[in-house]
Amino acid sequence: MGRIFKQELSEEHLDRLFSDDEKCLEFLAESKWKEGFSCRKCGNANYCSGKTPFARRCTKCKTEESAAAGTIFHNCKFPLHKAFYIAYTVCRGKEDISTYEFARRLSIRQMTCWNFKAKIRHALDEMDSLSENERESILNILEK
Ligand SMILES: [Zn+2]
Repeated sequence: MGRIFKQELSEEHLDRLFSDDEKCLEFLAESKWKEGFSCRKCGNANYCSGKTPFARRCTKCKTEESAAAGTIFHNCKFPLHKAFYIAYTVCRGKEDISTYEFARRLSIRQMTCWNFKAKIRHALDEMDSLSENERESILNILEK
């Protein structure tokens, strides 16, 4: 379970991540493309900015990739900073917080918390059975 959010992040950094969706996207983008950008479709390394914050758009084939694409935060139906809070807490495993408690702290539905928590647990459990690409995509964003 240790691989996600491997590094201890500073309190200050966490406060920012847990309150601001754009900071979360920035975090995802920096982690995902830390080795540089490579278009998923054509492999081109040149990009311009996309429509959503920190998304990148290939200059050759125009395919746009959001910062959250390919991560467990993709298609997240509730605010990203809340998802980050759950992911971080679950992955660090320091506190065992119930979905009921998450729901109370974050003012979101318990079912939403339950679903997302299950998704993280599943990602962590299945890490070994994922394809290399899938694993990379999870590790890239969460290892930082
Ligand atoms: Zn491309």
